[in-house]
Amino acid sequence: MTRRVHIIGAGLAGLSAAVRLCAAGVSITVHETAKHAGGRCRSFYDDALEAIIDNGSHLVLSGNHDVLDYVALIGGQAALEGGAGAQFAFQDLSTRTSWCVDLGQGHGRAALLSWLWDKRRQPPGFTPWGFWRDLLALSRGRGCRVAACLDTTSELYRTFWRPMTLAVLNVEPQVGSAQLLWAVLRDTVLKGSAFANPVFAPQGLGAALVDPALAMLARHGADVHFGRRISGLECQDGRVSAIQFAHAAEVLGQDDGVVLAVPHHKVADVLEDVHVEMGAQSILNVHYRVASDEAAIVAPRLMGLVEAKAQWLLQRGPIVSVTVSDAQAWMDKDTDAIAHALWPDVAQALDLGEMPSRYRVIKERRATFCASPEAQLKRLPTRTKLANLVLAGDWTDTGLPATLESAVKSGRLAAETILA
Ligand SMILES: Cc1cc2nc3c(=O)[nH]c(=O)nc-3n(C[C@H](O)[C@H](O)[C@H](O)COP(=O)(O)OP(=O)(O)OC[C@H]3O[C@@H](n4cnc5c(N)ncnc54)[C@H](O)[C@@H]3O)c2cc1C
Repeated sequence: MTRRVHIIGAGLAGLSAAVRLCAAGVSITVHETAKHAGGRCRSFYDDALEAIIDNGSHLVLSGNHDVLDYVALIGGQAALEGGAGAQFAFQDLSTRTSWCVDLGQGHGRAALLSWLWDKRRQPPGFTPWGFWRDLLALSRGRGCRVAACLDTTSELYRTFWRPMTLAVLNVEPQVGSAQLLWAVLRDTVLKGSAFANPVFAPQGLGAALVDPALAMLARHGADVHFGRRISGLECQDGRVSAIQFAHAAEVLGQDDGVVLAVPHHKVADVLEDVHVEMGAQSILNVHYRVASDEAAIVAPRLMGLVEAKAQWLLQRGPIVSVTVSDAQAWMDKDTDAIAHALWPDVAQALDLGEMPSRYRVIKERRATFCASPEAQLKRLPTRTKLANLVLAGDWTDTGLPATLESAVKSGRLAAETILA
């Protein structure tokens, strides 16, 4: 009988494992409880906005090698677009000042060094020595919080480190893990601008990361079941022997395997004795339709805001999307009130007038695990004590925060473990 691997969860972690196993000639069955793939990274057509939007704006950088290798494997490159360079525009709405963190062109230490000495391309409060001191502290910050490694009264903290921590970790520096922030800096900014170039998906993340993966699975004859919630695993002799779903069970063959690729807070639904307590952090997104298609900007544009309720703006076609990280306080607010509360920041930053009548508010209560030093200790490895069960998901022990890179990497590690 052919070997079959069952993937539970069709988020980026599950898809990443599935396409790698498919490419290696393994037969695949995917079980996904939702009616669509993509999990926390999905695109859909919004009738009110008359546009395809993402549930939340996702920032991918050119140093996210696992994501880009995955996109190459599934053939999604045409749906991704590099930014104009490693440039991040910022505005301080309290002082009405603007700056651009511009890492320049090229890669390696030379590019980074040239940035360190060029004031025009740095955020306010930047000094090369201060920046190195902060980096050194973060690199040695295993087990520490970000804020414990930095001078939280400094201008650079306000203009750079706090916005950066919120964007990367989705928590305040007083909570976030220095080790996780360092891991992202190490793989991107510190390798030079060629690794910190923002990568956009002009037609939405689904077109680049999800649809091509489903097409690849279809070409390889994979069975993909939507609306199928896995409620448990039967185990025998140290192996998973059957997968349970809605009044039925699928019995596994002797060589069959399982990749459990659900979020950390759903693991106990499937493995009742495994409780992964890593907390949850929210992200709020508001998508405003600001222009007619003809007036829309062509290239996606990203802007960070300081001293504002809105933290990041992404303008893509006729849609401006606002992102607020660490957004627990917004989750129980009325959606219209949210749209009205954030619009003044958008209007000031982009010099726009009245709030548009068409907008969509998306609250993701459990957007990421809480990227604290405590949560770091709770992460589980790919292998489990069951011989044919491996774990995947952004929360597994990838050494990265809850990101697409972590999810895709976890899927690759799961596939490699099964194939080993
Ligand atoms: C608003 C928002 C903004 C973000 N911004 C960024 C960003 O800028 N950059 C970045 O890199 N990352 C960002 N992220 C994080 C990124 O989206 C996630 O890290 C990644 O998508 C997680 O993928 P995953 O496969 O691990 O989990 P998920 O996407 O949660 O996938 C798990 C899947 O398992 C399914 N499932 C659950 N239980 C069962 C069950 N019992 N049976 C069958 N299926 C089940 C779920 O339906 C889901 O489809 C953001 C996330 C959000 C929500």
